[in-house]
Amino acid sequence: MVDERNAAILRMTDVALNAARELLHREGFVELLPVILAPVTDPLRHTTGRATIGAYDQEWYLTTSMIFHKQAAIEVLDKIFCLSPNIRLEPAAWEGTGRHLFEFVQLDLEVRDATRDDMLALGERLLIHIVERVRRTCFRELETLGRELTVPRAPFPRIPYRDAEARYGAGFEEHLSREAEGPIWIVDFPAEVREFYDREDPSRPGVLLDMDLLYPEGYGEALSGGEREHEPGRIRDRIRRQGLDPAVYGSLLAAARPPSAGFGIGIERLVRFLGGLPHVREVRLFPRVPGERAEM
Ligand code: AMP
Ligand code: MG
Repeated sequence: MVDERNAAILRMTDVALNAARELLHREGFVELLPVILAPVTDPLRHTTGRATIGAYDQEWYLTTSMIFHKQAAIEVLDKIFCLSPNIRLEPAAWEGTGRHLFEFVQLDLEVRDATRDDMLALGERLLIHIVERVRRTCFRELETLGRELTVPRAPFPRIPYRDAEARYGAGFEEHLSREAEGPIWIVDFPAEVREFYDREDPSRPGVLLDMDLLYPEGYGEALSGGEREHEPGRIRDRIRRQGLDPAVYGSLLAAARPPSAGFGIGIERLVRFLGGLPHVREVRLFPRVPGERAEM
């Protein structure tokens, strides 16, 4: 019984990945191989530990997200994506959230000269395409999992961060994810709650041109993304405002990057939502759950 359930989840993951690749290739994206080690990685102020290894007289981060490498890659190709393994040493207390692993995979994508509106529309096309494909090809798997899956309809509702906070208080994300009838966007995050690379709206200081997508039924955050700061002067200013050291991000500041926008969607959370699973751990054969030891 457990095997049947595991097999259904793994087959569904495969179908979802194929559907995502198919849509992105159809739209002209090129898949890149992931960067696993780098001297610089996403600072992620909201999470705990970043892991490093030492090799060849240098300290290497295990990738927390490919943000900086995506921004560099779109100088070469205008639409890229990557299935990027991420290591984030989340607090052991998050073992039971159902949403956190300390090794997970993001489908991370970036588009040169794109706007947040482009990314909102792409996120909707991508999720709808995946759900349609899974419903059509995985009816047996969905039956095994006892899951009824509805295809969401675009456009998904959008609610600015400050409005959501004013209406539902600090726990607005959980509230919205539980109450919403379908996926819902949070847009316009305040600069102080996000990373320095999300672009500040030139006409609204302190407000970012970024977004999160929330799944319905309480499954929580699906993806994060937005437009990027791309001028070295503005990036340096944002780094300083976050209390970070610009010297660490020297490679980012060396030259102006093309404007771009993108997002990263967590695969384990996507499959958790598709399958109606209690915990993302079930999506991986060898789950890395914060606080848990493993033998394989
Ligand atoms: P972030 O850059 O933190 O917004 O992460 C991008 C996406 O990766 C999120 O929207 C989630 O879908 C997924 N994600 C982030 N952290 C974790 C985690 N600890 N375990 C599983 N998925 C995660
Ligand atoms: Mg996020």
